[in-house]
Amino acid sequence: MTAARESLCFGVAGIPNSCPEESSFKAIDCLISAGLEALELEFVHGLRMNQETATQIKLKAGSQGIKLSAHAPYFINLNAEDKGKIIQSQDLLLNSLRLAAVAGASDLVFHAGYYGKKSSEETYRTIKLRLKEIISIARSEKIPVALRIETMGKKSQFGSLDEVINLCREIDHLFPCLDFAHIFAREGRVNSYSEFHRVLSKVEKKLGHLALQKAHIHISGVKFNQAGELKHLNLNESDFHYYEWLQALLDFGVKGTIICESPSLEIDAKILKSLYFSLKEKKSQPIISD
Ligand SMILES: [Zn+2]
Repeated sequence: MTAARESLCFGVAGIPNSCPEESSFKAIDCLISAGLEALELEFVHGLRMNQETATQIKLKAGSQGIKLSAHAPYFINLNAEDKGKIIQSQDLLLNSLRLAAVAGASDLVFHAGYYGKKSSEETYRTIKLRLKEIISIARSEKIPVALRIETMGKKSQFGSLDEVINLCREIDHLFPCLDFAHIFAREGRVNSYSEFHRVLSKVEKKLGHLALQKAHIHISGVKFNQAGELKHLNLNESDFHYYEWLQALLDFGVKGTIICESPSLEIDAKILKSLYFSLKEKKSQPIISD
């Protein structure tokens, strides 16, 4: 992983809505105009970006101080019934890591897969094995990208907070992507200061302080039912307590990247960024008493 940042940086998943062109290259300019500093390249529908574009993006983001990450294709399922699909998924994840490296992304986020007919224990074992194989190849190729398994919002998907934390403890060079909208949707709770605090304490206790110093976090409003996540919402259309959430991140001294996945993308990212820095400012002021 790259060096820890001094603070949190805020950005969006994919091309900002204000961007006139569907281009990751142009997205960097739009992001800067919006006053943001992080971009997650969306490989979610396949690895369509060519090497030349990836190289240009790396150069541009590097010269503008934009932090890049990438998101692997949704197609990946490391627990598929079909052996062929598992091999395809492993290839896709490895190729995503390779492309992320060319594009200058420091982190690659992915969804590990579905339980299908298997128990959560068996799924855990299978995914652990498949990931170890992928990481071993990535290490031998010296790919300088941190692989991040995401906490998932649907109960049919592998990736509860505990599963993600335990896998990251057990597998060297695997890191978490903490999606707080997904954690909220899956558990139907974790929407108060004390619950956010508990999640962050658990991550710190099990994965070490560095996990919060180089965090990679997804956030949005979220609609859910008993089965978990239904869809992403804008923060102000959801009942996610983002004020308390930011306060907990601040109190814990979390550093790293916040990627906003609300439909409004940069609008919500800017709301979060300005609220975070105003909370930070307030916290740093000395308490004056008469
Ligand atoms: Zn995701």
